Amino acid sequence: MGDGLRNSGDVGNKQFQTLVNSEHPIPVSYDMESTTKDKGGYQLGVTGNAIEGQKINTKTNEVVDVIISESNITINVGVISEFVSDVRSGKQDATEKGEKIIKDNTKLTAFDMAIAVLGHEIDHSQSKNQTDKANGKNPETVPTQKAEQILQDIANKKNNEGH
Ligand SMILES: [Zn+2]
Repeated sequence: MGDGLRNSGDVGNKQFQTLVNSEHPIPVSYDMESTTKDKGGYQLGVTGNAIEGQKINTKTNEVVDVIISESNITINVGVISEFVSDVRSGKQDATEKGEKIIKDNTKLTAFDMAIAVLGHEIDHSQSKNQTDKANGKNPETVPTQKAEQILQDIANKKNNEGH
């Protein structure tokens, strides 16, 4: 899956490099068993961060850094499989950009979606994302954009094969 991320395109490669060059450990595990029902929804992945502390600008009260000692990423492969098949079948409406990309590109597999989810979760393991969150910014915006780009890059590669 790491190779898939690295080879997906510029955004995926950047996320892969962030993972392998991180100063704190980021173990990645794969949950093949859990279902959407178990998770109470489409929880495609999750990141838990052990936070040691944060640096605050005392003049502005803004958080300027969050210090993370370890991050644990879980990719919910079983849920991702259900999600992709539900988007394809129409059981899940394709309203969000990522869902539209899946629906429009039939060559994309659940494995491809898992690669995009890994790219998304890597963002949550980084101080920048946790600093945004601490300052009240939506921590999902940037990771979601990156995952959409990774998915689109994989789709473009697959669509260009054989032409
Ligand atoms: Zn997220």
